[in-house]
Amino acid sequence: MNYADFLKKLDSKLEKYFEDQRTHICCKIGCSSCCEKGDYPLSQIELEYMMQGFIALENEQKQAVQTNVKNMQKGGACPFLVNKKCSIYFYRPIICRTHGLAYLCGENTVKVPYCVNEGKNFSRVYKDGEIMSEPVKENLDTQQILANYDYGEIRNLYDWIKTD
Ligand code: SF4
Ligand code: SF4
Repeated sequence: MNYADFLKKLDSKLEKYFEDQRTHICCKIGCSSCCEKGDYPLSQIELEYMMQGFIALENEQKQAVQTNVKNMQKGGACPFLVNKKCSIYFYRPIICRTHGLAYLCGENTVKVPYCVNEGKNFSRVYKDGEIMSEPVKENLDTQQILANYDYGEIRNLYDWIKTD
């Protein structure tokens, strides 16, 4: 399947999941701590799509991203984050589309967004590693979402772009 079509389908499914969990979600523009620290695992096709977004940017934004790439640290901020906003939002990878939800990633294991510890998503229903609300009943790890598609290997963003 064409990746853009695949994304359309994924987005409409995720929209429903976010709607179902909306009482526990406080994501908003300018809230960017999930883009300031992480590994951002993504496949080759996702990287290529992100680069399409980068190419379409105004020069000023492009330069800001390039500076961020130069200063990028493993496990640190995503270089596409500019002024606390995603500069390539439409082209962002799957991990950024699913992040914010709580979902099952094993029979009895629930993955929650790490900002739960910052008093954000799910923090009102999360205690001692347990969540007191219904998670999405689908494993939304990128690897699982892409399990049936041939979209290339998955690496962390740092490993994709810091090749020097
Ligand atoms: S996932 Fe958490 S840190 Fe990221 S935008 Fe949503 S509330 Fe903010
Ligand atoms: S691609 Fe955009 S949404 Fe994803 S981590 Fe980077 S800045 Fe955040």
